[in-house]
Amino acid sequence: MIQLIKGFKDILPGEVETWQRVERVARTLFEDFGFKEIRIPIMEKTELFARSIGEDTDIVEKEMYTFPDRKGDLITLRPEATASICRSYVQHKLYAQDPVRKFYTIGPMFRRERPQKGRYRQFYQINVEIFGIASARVDAELILLLTILCQRLGVQDVAAHINSLGCPECRPDFKTSLLKYIDTVADQLCSDCLRRKDRNPLRVLDCKVPTCREAMTDAPSIIDCLCNICDTEFKTLQSTLSRLDVHYVMDKRLVRGLDYYTRATFEIQTGSLGAQSAVAGGGRYDGLVKLLGGPDTPATGFAIGFDRLAEIVQMQGDDRQRRPDVYIAAMGEQSQSLAFDWVCQLGRQGCYSEMDHQGRSLKSQMKRANRLDAPYVVMLGENELNSGAAVLRNMTTKDQIDIPFDQLVQAVIERSQKK
Ligand code: AMP
Repeated sequence: MIQLIKGFKDILPGEVETWQRVERVARTLFEDFGFKEIRIPIMEKTELFARSIGEDTDIVEKEMYTFPDRKGDLITLRPEATASICRSYVQHKLYAQDPVRKFYTIGPMFRRERPQKGRYRQFYQINVEIFGIASARVDAELILLLTILCQRLGVQDVAAHINSLGCPECRPDFKTSLLKYIDTVADQLCSDCLRRKDRNPLRVLDCKVPTCREAMTDAPSIIDCLCNICDTEFKTLQSTLSRLDVHYVMDKRLVRGLDYYTRATFEIQTGSLGAQSAVAGGGRYDGLVKLLGGPDTPATGFAIGFDRLAEIVQMQGDDRQRRPDVYIAAMGEQSQSLAFDWVCQLGRQGCYSEMDHQGRSLKSQMKRANRLDAPYVVMLGENELNSGAAVLRNMTTKDQIDIPFDQLVQAVIERSQKK
């Protein structure tokens, strides 16, 4: 038996209904706030991710699915969507008409991480990005969107964590004091941290190794090093969140695993998922559009871990599969043929019906109708073929009426609309 690749997974019926609902609710919400969908490719030139996410990050160093195509060009299965959306924004000059653009996209990402619960090698993200607005007010808007989404999906036990990463003005000072601290705990750090600390000390703050996390507990906070503009923006973020009634937690360790972030960063964390507590993360990346060859454009966005969100919604267990509007129990070849025509006609008109194709007994067909929770059953056998009318049974009241064949489809449709 051929099995799927390690860290990949199937999303089966029963689960898919939850995914569809999450997607429906998310799309409606984003469109309520003026976001437009953008669809980007699953593969890009490796260079795009190496340059934007950063060479010293876990993603670029060890998690990307990168391979030469047949001509030898290096391509990568996208590990995240922001870099591609920026590439698209620059390539198609989407800023030309109006630099302010608001996008969302939904799709699979690929990272070769150690698979475990809540961590896959193909996983899905819902991404939202705003280009062209520098104000921290829109960072607050993004966090608000995430909290509304959780509310609309009935997800509780979530908290918004926020931090600022400063800007190219103030971050160097912070890096210097961070590095000083790191050197005092260097003997407790993993080999990745030791290798990266001089070039990129921020990476040590978000190392996942428990001993490193422990060692960094008393590390200095960037909040104490922010320049005037970053400080004002961070205060705007906090006051806007308070005004919008969004509860938040200050989290000085939140530096996120990608180099392109500046100023506001945030995560939505939950207590429902054990170790993988982040359901969504994002922040401002004011330098990225320029880095990719576009005009100097402020930008901010987030990525929701779709798998994790769907898992929480699924745990709440309120997504039922669609049940048929009617089950057609047909006995004998001629009845099955007529039933098949009705199933197709009903489906064309948006009415879902099921039938049996195996010539099972009436008893076993009625059992299946019950299992599928069909509210009505049409019975069609030799007697009905002779009389030209089928029996329509209401499975709740057990009432039965005869319906002439030429009125049957309409009769079922009327009943399905009454529900
Ligand atoms: P990131 O792009 O790393 O900031 O991740 C954003 C969100 O995507 C995280 O908060 C997770 O919910 C989700 N995520 C990241 N990596 C994985 C993974 N390997 N498997 C499942 N979800 C993930």
